[in-house]
Amino acid sequence: MRTTTPRPIAESELAVVRMILERVPFKAIPRSTIEAVPELVVVGDCECGCACLDFAEPENFQAAGVPVAGGYGSTASGATVETLVFGTPDAILALRILPLGHDDGTLPRLDSIGVMLPGDAGQQRVAADGTCAPPLNTRSLAGLLDA
Ligand SMILES: [Zn+2]
Repeated sequence: MRTTTPRPIAESELAVVRMILERVPFKAIPRSTIEAVPELVVVGDCECGCACLDFAEPENFQAAGVPVAGGYGSTASGATVETLVFGTPDAILALRILPLGHDDGTLPRLDSIGVMLPGDAGQQRVAADGTCAPPLNTRSLAGLLDA
């Protein structure tokens, strides 16, 4: 991941983040967090060109970012991706779109986002080339994505 000039979250990106939070939450996500997704500010993206994003931390933010929602989806080209939102139930810090064994890291179709792999449930997760690093807020994330 690399730091970028801060910019507002794009329409396509916020739709995916909101869908992940609504459809595949790991924890209870307050409505206020989902409604605040359009206000997220993108401060980092991935040098590999995939759809991973880091968002600005709220001021005086002290908590550790953890996965708060996630599942799988299919991109327009039919590739399977793992989709994860990191942060806390009250603050969204990062979006990760992780390709599963291929190079397609584009945003998944909204209607494809779910708990299960859209295609072959036995497909093995293959680690990305290493450029798609964990979120910048890594206080509690060491090793998580390599598990
Ligand atoms: Zn990447």
